[in-house]
Amino acid sequence: MSPTVFWFRRDLRLSDNPALLAAVSAAGDDGVQPVFVLDPVPFRASGGPRTSHLARSLRALDESLGGHLVIRHGKPEEEIPRLVAEIGAEEVHIAADYGPYGAARDQRVEKALASHGATLHRTGSPYAIAPGRIRKPDDTPYRVFTPFSRAWREHGWRAPVAAPKNANWRKAKSGGLPDVPDLPDVDLPEAGEDAARKRFADFLDDGLAGYADERNRPDRDGTSRISVNLKYGELHPRTILAELAKRRGSGADTFRNEICWREFYADVVFHRPSSLWESLDQRVGSIHTDSGKSADAKFEAWAAGRTGFPIVDAGMRQLLEIGWMHNRVRMITASFLVKDLHLPWQRGAAHFLDHLVDGDYASNNHGWQWVAGTGTDAAPYIRVFNPVTQGKKFDPEGGYVRRWVPELADVSGAAVHEPWTLETQPEGYPEPIVDHAAERQETLRRFEAVRGA
Ligand SMILES: Cc1cc2nc3c(=O)[nH]c(=O)nc-3n(C[C@H](O)[C@H](O)[C@H](O)COP(=O)(O)OP(=O)(O)OC[C@H]3O[C@@H](n4cnc5c(N)ncnc54)[C@H](O)[C@@H]3O)c2cc1C
Repeated sequence: MSPTVFWFRRDLRLSDNPALLAAVSAAGDDGVQPVFVLDPVPFRASGGPRTSHLARSLRALDESLGGHLVIRHGKPEEEIPRLVAEIGAEEVHIAADYGPYGAARDQRVEKALASHGATLHRTGSPYAIAPGRIRKPDDTPYRVFTPFSRAWREHGWRAPVAAPKNANWRKAKSGGLPDVPDLPDVDLPEAGEDAARKRFADFLDDGLAGYADERNRPDRDGTSRISVNLKYGELHPRTILAELAKRRGSGADTFRNEICWREFYADVVFHRPSSLWESLDQRVGSIHTDSGKSADAKFEAWAAGRTGFPIVDAGMRQLLEIGWMHNRVRMITASFLVKDLHLPWQRGAAHFLDHLVDGDYASNNHGWQWVAGTGTDAAPYIRVFNPVTQGKKFDPEGGYVRRWVPELADVSGAAVHEPWTLETQPEGYPEPIVDHAAERQETLRRFEAVRGA
C-alpha cells in the first residue's frame, strides 16, 4: 500500500462520504492526505457570499480533520500531481463532478496523474443519483420534471455511510486558507458540516411537518435553508433522503420532490452543458430583449431593490443582505426582470450567482430558464407574474415586505403591496419604474412575434 490523496471539492464533510472511505481503505496505515485546491478560475467567478462561505467551511473541515487539511493554490492539473509526487501517492480519490467545468478539469487532472503513474478514482457524486443515470425506457434523457421524478424515486439510492473511523491523516505543506475579505454587511449562515447537520435536524423537528403548506410563504421561516450546505456538500442529499424515508406525510413527500428538482437540473446540464447560458428553447430564447442606457438603469433599479414594486424590492434586498432569497420571491423577481423589464434572463442569473450564497449554476440558471419560459417543463412564456397579486397571495399580511423594505415599515397589512394607492407615498420609496399591465402586453406582443417567426 501507499498513501492516498483525498481531494475535497463540493463535498466538504466527513460523514456520508463514500469517496473518502475509499481513500482511507486504499491507504491503510500509510495514511490519507486531504487536500483542497483553490482553483483561481471558479474562485474568481464566485461572488463574495460564496467565497466567504467556502473559506469558513474549509476552516471547519480543517478542524474536523485535526488540522490536516492541505490547501494548494493553483491549477488542479498541476497542484494535484505535485502533491502526489511529494508524498509518493499512487491514488487520488474524489467524488465525481458532473458539471461541465468540473468534469473537464477532472479529465485534465486524470491525464496529468497518468504521466506520474498515479490514478484518479471517482466514487459517488454530489447527488443521490448521478446525473445521466436516470433515462427513459428508450435510453434518452428526460426533458420534463414529473416523469423524471417518478423514475428517480423508482430507481432509489444507496444508504448513507458513516464517517471514517481511526483514519490516519497526513499533513504535507499547505498554502493556507484563502484570504477572503469579510462581508460585514451580509448576514451569512454558519458554515461547515456540524452547522449543516444541526440546521437540518432543526428543520426536521420544527419545519418538515408544515413544509408543504408553508414553503411558499416568504413571510414565514418555512423552508430548510440547506441549499448552501448542499451546494458545498456539507450535507449529502442521501443523508437527507434517508431521514425523509423515516417520516410520513406531505411534508416529507414535498421536500423529497424539491431535492429531486436539484437532481433534475443537474441531469439536464449533464446532457446539455450549453444550456447553462443558452436558452434550451432557442425559439422563445430569441425573443427581443432591451439594451442600452434605459435598460441598464432598469437593471440597476432591480438589482438595488428600487423598482417601486414592494415584493420585488423586498426580495432583491433580502438577497443583498443575507445572500439568500425565498424560492417564491426568486420566481417573482426573475419574472419581473424578464417580463416587466424585458431584459435577458442570463443577466439576472449572473447577478443572482454573484450574490447568492447557495449560487449553483444548474439550479440557478435553469430556475431562471423555467421562469423565462425557455427551459424545461411547460412553463408557458405567456405566464407573467403580477407582483401585486403574488405579493398579496404569498405575503398576505405584508410582513415580508415590511421586514426588508424599511421605507414601508409603517404601512400596515396588505396595502404594503400597493403603496401607490396610499394617500401619501411613503417617504424615500420609489414610484413604480414601469406600468405592469402595459409591460405584460408588451411581453405578449414580443412572444407572438417569435411564435409567428
Ligand atoms: C430564479 C431562481 C434561481 C435559483 N437559484 C438557485 C441557486 O442558485 N441555488 C440553489 O440551490 N437553488 C436555486 N433555486 C431553487 C430554490 O429557490 C432554492 O433551492 C431554495 O430557495 C433554497 O432554499 P431552501 O434550502 O430553504 O429550500 P427548501 O424549500 O427547503 O428546499 C430544499 C432543497 O431542495 C432544493 N430545491 C428546492 N427548490 C428547488 C428548485 N426550484 N430547483 C432546484 N432545487 C431546489 C434545494 O437544494 C433546497 O435546498 C433557484 C430558483 C429560482 C426560481
